Amino acid sequence: MLVVMQEGAAEPQIQRVIDRLVSLGFTVHRSTGVMHTVLGGVGPADAVDPAEFEVLEGVKECHRIVSPYKLASRHFRPGGTVVRIGAVEIGGPRVVVMAGPCSVESREQIERSAALVAESGATVIRGGAFKPRSSPYSFQGLGEEGLKMMREAADRNRLLVVSEVMDHTQIPLLAAYSHILQVGARNMQNFNLLRELGYQRTPVLLKRAISATIEEWLLSAEYILSGGNYDVMLCERGIRTFETATRNTMDLSAIPVVKQLSHLPILADPSHGTGRRDKVIPMARASVAAGADVLLVEVHPDPDRALSDGAQSLFPAQFAEMMRQIRALAPAIGRPV
Ligand code: PEP
Ligand code: MN
Repeated sequence: MLVVMQEGAAEPQIQRVIDRLVSLGFTVHRSTGVMHTVLGGVGPADAVDPAEFEVLEGVKECHRIVSPYKLASRHFRPGGTVVRIGAVEIGGPRVVVMAGPCSVESREQIERSAALVAESGATVIRGGAFKPRSSPYSFQGLGEEGLKMMREAADRNRLLVVSEVMDHTQIPLLAAYSHILQVGARNMQNFNLLRELGYQRTPVLLKRAISATIEEWLLSAEYILSGGNYDVMLCERGIRTFETATRNTMDLSAIPVVKQLSHLPILADPSHGTGRRDKVIPMARASVAAGADVLLVEVHPDPDRALSDGAQSLFPAQFAEMMRQIRALAPAIGRPV
């Protein structure tokens, strides 16, 4: 159930609607927009007539949300969500770039990565300390030691950190070092993890699973939102199709589709989306043109020696070139970088 309050509705009027929803068995999620306050009631919507709410003072309109996801729906926040972390705004007019190596490998590697990422104008450094590798014999990440190194390098370069959390027991550790918790493609339907992330207040970057529909992806976001953590961003990172020329098939159409269906910021990861560094810059350009709020890109000081995802990691000079091109392109659609 979605109750949209009139512009300038008084606080006691809003409270009365909340009390009414609660008394009928709804859990209430409040979104205070610039124009309207929207109250999302999750509960027995079929048993309640929206007209009952429309007669309450201060209410503009009330309707049932027909999509299976409710809080992730754009109706809940028509103006869109902006995730604010320090001075960085994700989902606002500015295109944000998050970049760094696939994995944190050593102090020297992450220091060099942070310096090059910051120098080119990105604001967030990425790097996995716990890696979900297809083979148990591949490099699994440096764990807490890696997180510590990355955070130190990030602080020195005034960058924020995004890193992957693989299960719910790791949340406190990750949250101690990382400003954004990444849920990887392989974990998009790890519902215990999603639920637990809903009880945290650290922003979450939720990647699309390799075979997930957009609806399943938004339902996974709903798990987090329904716990009260509204700082969720969605990341398209390529899906599995019959095509073998690229590592994954980057579903660019997901970007405008998600923009329409949901208020959550949308990220594009052309590195995992293509798996090949020569395809990353064109797909980064296309992602920004399609409306992505953020580019998430793998770059490594020495990609040929990377311990994971070297083939899709940009060389430093390529990353600088990508930034140059994005800075030239984004203003054409009214967005600074
Ligand atoms: C990653 O970001 O390095 C990663 C493992 O991503 P994904 O979950 O999209 O494969
Ligand atoms: Mn990777």
